[in-house]
Amino acid sequence: MIALLRHIITIIHSGDVRIEDCYWHRYWRHKYQDRNTKTVLAAEDGNVLSSHQSPTPSTTDESAESIDDLLINNLKAFLDSDETKSALSGKSADIAGIGIGVAGIIDRHNGLVIQSPNISSLNGVPLRERFEKELNLPVVIENDANAYAYGEKWVGAGKNLDNFVVLTLGTGLGGGIIYNGDLFEGPVEIGHMTIVPSGRYCTCGSYGCLESYASGRAIVERVISSLEKGADSMLTERCNGNFYKVTSKLIYETALDGDSLSREVFREAGQFLGIGIANLINILGIDAVIIGGGLIGGWDMFVEELKKESLKRAFKPLSANIQILKSSLKENAGSIGAAGFLLHKIPSPVIGDAN
Ligand SMILES: [Zn+2]
Repeated sequence: MIALLRHIITIIHSGDVRIEDCYWHRYWRHKYQDRNTKTVLAAEDGNVLSSHQSPTPSTTDESAESIDDLLINNLKAFLDSDETKSALSGKSADIAGIGIGVAGIIDRHNGLVIQSPNISSLNGVPLRERFEKELNLPVVIENDANAYAYGEKWVGAGKNLDNFVVLTLGTGLGGGIIYNGDLFEGPVEIGHMTIVPSGRYCTCGSYGCLESYASGRAIVERVISSLEKGADSMLTERCNGNFYKVTSKLIYETALDGDSLSREVFREAGQFLGIGIANLINILGIDAVIIGGGLIGGWDMFVEELKKESLKRAFKPLSANIQILKSSLKENAGSIGAAGFLLHKIPSPVIGDAN
């Protein structure tokens, strides 16, 4: 039997950024939080054929258009672009559907976002219904970190594993769980497990969450706080005395140059990640933890401490064979995952008999 070759459009809306952009500071958070929309045309083997990234449309602009209209127009412009048309031309391919990944709590039954931490205008908007009506294609909506985790299982570092957790270290810290070879679809907020009682204030309203100690935002805030208290660091000169220009990329570069504050901050992040991972190992009995997101650019700066701390704390029989792996999907992970998840959710059309 021959299954029709299918292409999938995926759209990921998130605040996730690369290491060079992680400078979301408490004073500037509204100004500098990145909100990107990545749109991808993927083949059913997980290859990306065409992609485009743009700032997520904002409904606070003068425009009278609603967020769903803006997003739909974005997608139509992507489909009309020369790159996408050329990727589709000459192939006997159909677009199978649209996979949408959004940071936040998802109502899968009704195809909408209940609560998005960074695009509040999406809350309650019937996204699936709107996209299905406008594009006449099946639409699946999933949490962006869950989509990332599914991508690792589908074609990434978790391809041959059945039980693992994916942590995405970007501006914040997201996570998804693959359990018995499939995505655990329940809403999970791994980045908001408490690591330090009465610890740092978190964007979720709680205190001491893992995200507040091991994310792009966390390491930048930690460095600025130390610089404000007069810590000696190469960073003071590198940012010309303006501490608020510090980015996670700059911290990484000065760490490579031997700056003790920068090295300590990465080491600390690894330690806190290790505590969180020990909790995950003890609760879930997983085989591996896969770490992705923009901050894995600094992998060598935190991974040893992470491994040491997690092995020290986790229940020994559960952690004896644990694998700590780097994501292999890089910047398109969420988009690829949303494509795989869509294929998993919709039936495969059959157009002929090969025998
Ligand atoms: Zn939190």
